[in-house]
Amino acid sequence: MPFIIYKMRSIAFIILHCSATRCDRRYSFNDCKRDHVKNRKFKDIGYHWYIERDGTICKGRPEEQAGAHCKERNKHSIGVCYEGGLDENGRPADTRTQAQKDSLFDLLIQLHQRYPRAVIMGHHEFNPLKDCPCFDAEEYRQIFST
Ligand SMILES: [Zn+2]
Repeated sequence: MPFIIYKMRSIAFIILHCSATRCDRRYSFNDCKRDHVKNRKFKDIGYHWYIERDGTICKGRPEEQAGAHCKERNKHSIGVCYEGGLDENGRPADTRTQAQKDSLFDLLIQLHQRYPRAVIMGHHEFNPLKDCPCFDAEEYRQIFST
């Protein structure tokens, strides 16, 4: 059986997302994966990493593979999503729990080590029609600039 060599893609951006689901309702990694695969017919969950409300970091699509999370930017990016992004009334809001913020920070430390030149962006910076991820990615851009 031949070895299959996966050449790592060049990563220009780490793109942050929210799941755009209400903060008072669960939308777990498995819920998201099921939606993407069964309903949207993706080959796998669109994100590479997913952070649940309690801070659990879930590994999604392998980083070697392009994701499906940001139109025209998937080829050279890593997609990170946190569970939430809508308040109890369904309006866009930064609903990250402290555990999610802590986990996101830990994950970004690791991603920055692997992809030191990648720029951290919020989804809405590529698509102003979206509120996603409902917080300003600038704070992370400043911390993780090389
Ligand atoms: Zn998004």
